[in-house]
Amino acid sequence: RPRVLSGIQPTAGSFHLGNYLGALRQWVALQETHEAFYCVVDLHAITVEQDPKVLRRNTRVSAAQLLALGIDPDRSSLFVQSHVPEHAQLAWVMQCLTGFGEASRMTQFKDKSARQTAGGAGDQTTAAIGVGLFTYPILQAADILLYQAHHVPVGEDQRQHLELTRDLAQRFNTRYGKTFRLPEPYIVKDTAKIYDLQDPTSKMSKSVPAGVVELLEDPKRSAKKIRSAVTDTGREIVYDPERKAGVSNLLVIYSALTGRTVESLVADYDGKGYGDLKKDLGEVFTEFVTPVQARVAEYLDDTAELDKVLARGAERARAVAAKTLARAYDRIGFLSSG
Ligand code: ATP
Ligand code: MG
Repeated sequence: RPRVLSGIQPTAGSFHLGNYLGALRQWVALQETHEAFYCVVDLHAITVEQDPKVLRRNTRVSAAQLLALGIDPDRSSLFVQSHVPEHAQLAWVMQCLTGFGEASRMTQFKDKSARQTAGGAGDQTTAAIGVGLFTYPILQAADILLYQAHHVPVGEDQRQHLELTRDLAQRFNTRYGKTFRLPEPYIVKDTAKIYDLQDPTSKMSKSVPAGVVELLEDPKRSAKKIRSAVTDTGREIVYDPERKAGVSNLLVIYSALTGRTVESLVADYDGKGYGDLKKDLGEVFTEFVTPVQARVAEYLDDTAELDKVLARGAERARAVAAKTLARAYDRIGFLSSG
């Protein structure tokens, strides 16, 4: 069976609708056809400052959500990144293969660092940005390559990082002999980029909490956010991402949550207004998320059991990761430790 690897940050505690539709839904589906490795990437989380208590809590909350959404820990290895030290070890190797200019071209770093230093100016502000935020995509490459993953289910925002991963794998293979498989991004076009409800031209994101629909917030609050989503001038419900970004985003979400095509939704809402669409979508979302929240609460009720599930996942992941790292170390010319 082909392998699949993906990760998600525990930074916000709750995942959002973009995470779910862009990535996590595919994680669940790919368990049917792939040998899956899914991780909560806590090493990535500390690229920005985290309160230790909150990070610990959010890591469990993240794992509980993955289980509640349908990740089956018997079929898939579900683990926490820091439990598998090979991630950090291979990341160092990959950093030594990455050009400074190459890393500097990563647009997500540019966006995130700009956001963190918004309001500041010059050298003073770059000092506030950790080097880890800059090298983050290289750690991500290590995450993927350790498992010799064929496919990596992610949202559109990760495409450039996947490209870097392939470049680094290719570079290592050329220099030291074939060691890593070149992974393919697995991006489902329709839901590859869910937009912020308050700003339908930018992606829904954990780090910009304005128009974000969170899986763990009170669904009443989500329904309200959906009702007050920025829509467009005019009143016709049509799918036109260029000119009607807001309504189109709502249609995509609606379609993904119900399995109905955008065309059939457009036909159904012919003659109705934005208000009707938003109200119905609020209900659709509430229906989807209510049982998920109940399951999350159950998993969090027994953190000892949850930790056990994660330990088991880490053990399985580590068996694979250690083998890949040992091979890479040997190729590089490191002495064997015995
Ligand atoms: P941050 O803004 O801190 O990077 P995030 O919201 O992007 O947070 P991640 O943990 O970085 O969350 O991403 C987890 C997965 O969700 C990735 O595969 C990413 O591509 C996907 N994803 C994130 N936001 C969206 C979105 N708006 N639409 C579709 N997929 C998304
Ligand atoms: Mg992200």
